[in-house]
Amino acid sequence: MHEMGIANSILDGVAKELRQRPGSRAVKVGVRIGELAGVDPDALSFAFEALTLDTPLAGLVLDVEYRAPRSRCRDCSREFEVRNFELLCPGCGGVNAECISGDEMEFAYLEVEEDEPCAAGRKSSE
Ligand SMILES: [Zn+2]
Repeated sequence: MHEMGIANSILDGVAKELRQRPGSRAVKVGVRIGELAGVDPDALSFAFEALTLDTPLAGLVLDVEYRAPRSRCRDCSREFEVRNFELLCPGCGGVNAECISGDEMEFAYLEVEEDEPCAAGRKSSE
């Protein structure tokens, strides 16, 4: 199942982040997914819940931003969002565009809460 794999790699990213911030608990994770990745939002949140259930990450909120694919015009090198598979360049009206993104999955942010604010002791890393 495609969405299961994506949920898995999101959780991998979360675990990686958390290792760098000992004592914090993940509350919300944001990812960006290209519309061309063919991800079913319902299936993804189902997979995500199934994978976090009964783990320390249970209740973690998944915030997905779906992005329209982008193309670049080969004639005038303008980059533009592709809507409804319309590949016409808004700059020069040409149809000579190449797809530059649309099936990406990237980590956007992770919101954490300090679990033990007293015990942790302050490490100033700012
Ligand atoms: Zn153009």
